[in-house]
Amino acid sequence: MQEKNLMEETISAIATAPGEGGIGIIRISGENAISIANRIFRPFAAKSLNEYGFRTAVYGHVLDEQDRIIDEAICIVMNAQNSYTCEDVVEIQCHGGSVVMREILALTYRMGARAAEPGEFTKRAFLNGRLDLSQAQAVMDVINAKTKASLEMAMSHLSGGFSHKIKGFRNDILAIIAHLEASIDFPEDDIEGMDFEDTRERISLLQDKLNKMLESANTGIILRDGLKTAIIGKPNAGKSSIMNLLLGQERAIVTDVPGTTRDSIEEYVNIGGIPLRLIDTAGIRDTDDIVEKIGVEKAYSYANDAELVLAVFDSNESMTSEDEEIIQLMDKCPGNIIVIMNKMDLSADVNSDIISEKIKGCKGGKIRGIVPMSAKSGEGQEQLEQLLKDIVYGGNTKIMESQALCDARQGEILRQSANLLGDALNTIDIGMSEDFIVIDLRSAWEKLGEITGETIEDDIVDQIFSNFCIGK
Ligand code: GDP
Repeated sequence: MQEKNLMEETISAIATAPGEGGIGIIRISGENAISIANRIFRPFAAKSLNEYGFRTAVYGHVLDEQDRIIDEAICIVMNAQNSYTCEDVVEIQCHGGSVVMREILALTYRMGARAAEPGEFTKRAFLNGRLDLSQAQAVMDVINAKTKASLEMAMSHLSGGFSHKIKGFRNDILAIIAHLEASIDFPEDDIEGMDFEDTRERISLLQDKLNKMLESANTGIILRDGLKTAIIGKPNAGKSSIMNLLLGQERAIVTDVPGTTRDSIEEYVNIGGIPLRLIDTAGIRDTDDIVEKIGVEKAYSYANDAELVLAVFDSNESMTSEDEEIIQLMDKCPGNIIVIMNKMDLSADVNSDIISEKIKGCKGGKIRGIVPMSAKSGEGQEQLEQLLKDIVYGGNTKIMESQALCDARQGEILRQSANLLGDALNTIDIGMSEDFIVIDLRSAWEKLGEITGETIEDDIVDQIFSNFCIGK
């Protein structure tokens, strides 16, 4: 009930990024959006906005209650049939200064709009049936995409490719249920195919499909969130140089984590479309020696935490006790490890063979390869890229991106649904009747609906949208 009231209110927010820009957009959505716009916007060429058709760019002034000009702007009115939220929406494109935008926003509040909550525009689009839940989630993934491959995945989710798959699974379950129910309702008809062998096979096939999709979860989550990566190595092995090489060519995306200091800057490197989320790179660059200065303990914890460890060795120097220490550390970390033999441009390659021999005994993380590299010349980058692709795609090709699961919540739901199908198979195997098989199948059908949002609790919906940004 409360939800309904909130939904009836007209909301407004600055839709463009905070700070200064060429253009800023204030977005208003809801029943009163158009009347608010009529009161604050005066077109140059006509008396009122109403004289223009919907979705027309109208040039004019934004005026306050005393008719004082706040800004020149373009105003676009979208009626509910053709808007993002399925409500009347007005977008005012003004100059992108923070004062201008705040003034116009405040004016919309005074005219009766209230501040939109994070993700509220998209939440309305979902609640009004414009997007399903997985598409709505993909909106943020498009905005946050770190590489072209991440973007392609997010776009295919947004355009419904992934939802279509899930809906297909649900329809398959419904078809099996209908078949079983027909035999419950009309047992005397002896419907063809009522032997459970056929039903069993159909359920089992579906379960395989779900499990196959689950296999893509790893790829999807990495493409969306980045592969958590730590670079370790003794002082002067070339960690910073390798990192700068990787960060170079304008491939890095740096994002501040709100509310934290510079220490927790997240830096992403795009290697062959795979976003690597580098752990504490600021730390590595500020202190010359991660092991010595931040402490071995911390280096251990980075390596332990990482899904990928890049262990850098200096191929040009004889093995030292510090190298031994790194090898011991590799022995303990659970993620994938790529060994980098750096400084291959220098003639004296004295270390590679010894190190290669030593790390063969590593029992910890999985060593995925040894890459001869030179941070100076760039040698080895392609091999590193190929190894990463092997780790992330695991031999599967790009087809997976369009159907990849990219969210831990969705993964958990899919896993549970596959288990519920397993329950249905058990029910058949122990000789229970149709009614009991239908109960299991119905649970799986309902569970899957949580991905697309057809069967989901309000508080989970709220929680998902609260992670969105304001104005989206
Ligand atoms: P870190 O302490 O592990 O971060 O090492 P740095 O990246 O600061 O590198 C230490 C030194 O080795 C610097 O003088 C670098 O210029 C040099 N260096 C790093 N990588 C290479 C390389 O591939 N070839 C050559 N010739 N020198 C390198």
